[in-house]
Amino acid sequence: MSIDWCIALDVFYITTPIYYPNAPPHIGHAYTTVFADVLARYKKLLGYKTFFLTGNDEHGLKIQNVAEKQGKKPKEFVDEMAEVFKSYWRSLDVEYDHFIRTTDDYHEKAVKEAFNYIYKKGLIYKAKYSGWYCVDCEKYYTPGEYIEVDGKPYCPLHNKPLEFMEEETYYFKLSEFKDYLLDVLRNKDIVYPRSYAEEVIAKIEKEGLRDLSIARPVERVWWGIPVPFDEKYVIYVWFDALLNYISAIGYSVDNERFKSYWSNVHHVIGKDILWFHTAVWFSILKALDIEPPRKLLVHSYLTVKGAKMSKSVGNIVSIEELLERYGSPDAVRYVLMRIFNMDKDSEFNYELIDSIYNSELADTYGNLVRRVGVLALKKLHGKVYRRSLDSKLKEELNEKLNAYIEAMESFDVARGASIAMDVARIGNQYLNETKPWEKSDPSRELYTTIEIIKLATTMLAPFTPRTAKTISSVFGFTIDNPRKYSFEAVERFNVTDAPILYKKITPKK
Ligand SMILES: [Zn+2]
Repeated sequence: MSIDWCIALDVFYITTPIYYPNAPPHIGHAYTTVFADVLARYKKLLGYKTFFLTGNDEHGLKIQNVAEKQGKKPKEFVDEMAEVFKSYWRSLDVEYDHFIRTTDDYHEKAVKEAFNYIYKKGLIYKAKYSGWYCVDCEKYYTPGEYIEVDGKPYCPLHNKPLEFMEEETYYFKLSEFKDYLLDVLRNKDIVYPRSYAEEVIAKIEKEGLRDLSIARPVERVWWGIPVPFDEKYVIYVWFDALLNYISAIGYSVDNERFKSYWSNVHHVIGKDILWFHTAVWFSILKALDIEPPRKLLVHSYLTVKGAKMSKSVGNIVSIEELLERYGSPDAVRYVLMRIFNMDKDSEFNYELIDSIYNSELADTYGNLVRRVGVLALKKLHGKVYRRSLDSKLKEELNEKLNAYIEAMESFDVARGASIAMDVARIGNQYLNETKPWEKSDPSRELYTTIEIIKLATTMLAPFTPRTAKTISSVFGFTIDNPRKYSFEAVERFNVTDAPILYKKITPKK
């Protein structure tokens, strides 16, 4: 396949990892998925043709085992779980364009084709393997990678004993890609934040690259995609899963579509799967003669009580718990993104989240909307005619807008949301200073504050899309492209309501 890799500038393709549907998603999954959704919605506002992909990783031993335990066939089980995941994403207003399932026919076909392609290039071979294996990670751990508990090798992620396995398997010649990977990681600005690229470079330099087993004997794992030329094996779940990013956009089926989306692909991942998404994924792509992804956006963990959320640790916070507590998908999306962090782990605790919710959504933004709505209805019967904005204020708002765009362009959604809140704060302060309730005709003050609400709402739209829809309709404006934003564009705001957007909650003790 010879491909001309020019970037389609009007296209934005964003992916989440595909999730293991062994249990319903929790707020750790939501953290990643909402982040991708916010970026997709932001790019859509800018006028990009976006494609947002999420989905489930449905093969492998773990799924096979969980289904068995529940007395179900794996396919029956993953069918049910796909609906469960979709319903959670709906409950959070996650607006994906496609939900991929690795049991989808087109995906299985693409995986087999890719496997054959690499095999024919001589980059896949058969040999014996033995080592320490974690069933939950579905990967082998080499000395130095695993931890030791009572002298026994344990999985560092799952904190449980590894199993010693020996098997004949197919290998992918990962070791051949060392120079390529080091070159790409050093010289191409793919991995963001940059420190994660350095981490992978250091690991490759220190440990080198071992060939990767990419098949499992069917007697042990039968729930997977068969190796196309050897039915005694199924393809390793990671190899299968990673290919979802290309199968979903028409790899080997629709070359034009594939080329266009791939040229501006952004993968969102948590740092625990960094290695697979750099060393392994970039090498597979190279073996397939495909360019590395445009961007790999890596975030740190959302921790609870200092640990990454997991069933075995017992610190899972459920999505419904947050929806119930904060009352709307918008609120949950907002608070998760306000603590989003790519460089360091973010500790989730209710004290912090309650205070963000109360002080920002309820007391600042919600309060501004309510105050202005009530005043506009009472003082001006909802008809607020254009007056020019104070030039200094306009300048200040413009600075905020530029800072917001810069934050969003550098994937710093927490800062983006926080700048939007600054704008709402400016609005409240302006009201306090100008006291429109004391004036018989406060058109100027109210036009100005609605302009401020319009700006804050535009900035918040990717985070709180429902609220943005409500407010723009209740105040009579449209949500515009932030890059082409103009002040004083509305001749008359038509205010029809003064909604209470976010009810204050009693902080949890
Ligand atoms: Zn593990």
